Amino acid sequence: MTQMKKACVIGSPISHSLSPRLHSYWIKKTNIKGSYGAREILPEQLQAGVKSLINEGFEGFNITIPHKETLLPLLDAVDDVAKHIGAVNTVVIRNAKTYGTNTDAFGFIENIKIHTPDYFSKITNPIILGAGGAARAVVKALSDAGARSIDVVVRDTKKAESLGSITGNLNIHAWDSLPILLSQASLLVNTTPIGMQGKESVTIDLSGLSKEALVTDIVYNPLMTPLLQTASQRGNKVIDGLGMLIFQAIPGFESWFGKRPEIDLPELQQLKQILASV
Ligand code: NAP
Repeated sequence: MTQMKKACVIGSPISHSLSPRLHSYWIKKTNIKGSYGAREILPEQLQAGVKSLINEGFEGFNITIPHKETLLPLLDAVDDVAKHIGAVNTVVIRNAKTYGTNTDAFGFIENIKIHTPDYFSKITNPIILGAGGAARAVVKALSDAGARSIDVVVRDTKKAESLGSITGNLNIHAWDSLPILLSQASLLVNTTPIGMQGKESVTIDLSGLSKEALVTDIVYNPLMTPLLQTASQRGNKVIDGLGMLIFQAIPGFESWFGKRPEIDLPELQQLKQILASV
C-alpha cells in the first residue's frame, strides 16, 4: 500500500498563505496520495518545529515570513542558489536530513518566460525597485539569465550594498535616479510592498520608460497593482506576481510528491483564478 506523503508551509502568521490551496489542487489533479497543510511556527520554536516535521515523516516543507533567512543555518545542507540569495523557501527531508533551496529566482524567470518566451535573449538594463529578500532572488535570477548590468533603485543605498555579493553586474541608485534610468531599461520589476493592499500608496512616474519595456510586480495582492495599471494604460506589457508564486512551488511539489506539475498559459490563468478567489 502506498504511504500518504505529507508536506506543508511553515511561517508566522500562516493563515494568509496560498500554498495549501495551490498544492492541494495539484495533489488532486495528479491523483497523488498526499496532503499539504500550513503550520504556524513562532521564531523561537523554529528548530523544534522542524524536528517535529522530521519525526512526523514529512517529505519537506515551504518556508515563509519570518523564517526564510533564519532557517538557513539550521539545515543539514543548502544549495548554492539559496546561499547566494541568503534565504531558503523550500526544504526536502530525506533520511531525517534537511536539504534547503530557494526557488523564488526560478519562479520569477518562469513567470516572465511563459508570457514572453524570447525576452531573455534581448534583456538590457533591468531595473529592480527595492533591495529586500525578494529583490535578492530577482537579482540572482536576472544575473543567471544573462543581464550584464542590473540597476537596483532604493530609498536607502547603504542597506542595498549586500546585494553586491550576488553579482558584480549591479549598480545601486537612490530613488530620485529612477527617471533617468527608465529610458534605458527593457524591464522594470517592483519588489517593494508599494501597491500592496493595506500598504502606503506611492506613485511611480513611468513617463521616461520605453513602451517596449516589460513591467512586472511581484506583489500579487491586488493582482493589478497601481504600477501595473499605469504601465498597462500607457501601452507597456505587464506581468503580475501571482505567476511567480505558482512557478516557485513546482520544484518542491516534484521533490515531495514525485510528479512535476506542467503549466501552460490557460492552466496558469485557471490557477490564478483559483488562488485569487480566496
Ligand atoms: P522585504 O525584505 O521587507 O523588502 C522590502 C523592500 O522594499 C526593502 O528594500 C524596503 O526598503 C523596500 N520598501 C518598502 N517600502 C518602501 C517604500 N515605500 N518606498 C521604497 N522602498 C520601499 O520584503 P520582501 O520579502 O522582499 O517582499 C517584498 C514583497 O514581495 C512583499 O509584498 C511580498 O509579499 C512579495 N513577494 C512576492 C513573491 C511572489 O512569489 N510573487 C515572493 C516573495 C515576496 P527599506 O529597507 O528601506 O525598508
